[in-house]
Amino acid sequence: MYCMNCGKEIDDKAVICVHCGVPVRNSSFDSCGKNWITALLLCFFLGGIGAHRFYTGHMGTAILQLILTFSVVGIIISAPWALIDFICIICGKFKTSNGCELLR
Ligand SMILES: [Zn+2]
Repeated sequence: MYCMNCGKEIDDKAVICVHCGVPVRNSSFDSCGKNWITALLLCFFLGGIGAHRFYTGHMGTAILQLILTFSVVGIIISAPWALIDFICIICGKFKTSNGCELLR
């Protein structure tokens, strides 16, 4: 692969570019390598509190979903939101915060 900063070729497993020292966004790091079935089950049982979003690294929207669930008005938004996420996970459209596919 190539460095996003300087464009020089670097090792596929590199974490930091050896040419410019900038951290490399490696697809095998952070929220990648998350299981599809785990995300699906979390969404099914704990979808209302955004558990599947915490799991896949979507921290901002996970906290938002959690706050919404504990407010009377918010639950109206949170419940269908969790259902949409659930359908997205089934269809394979749901990705981690790094844009990685969930592993089946
Ligand atoms: Zn570089």
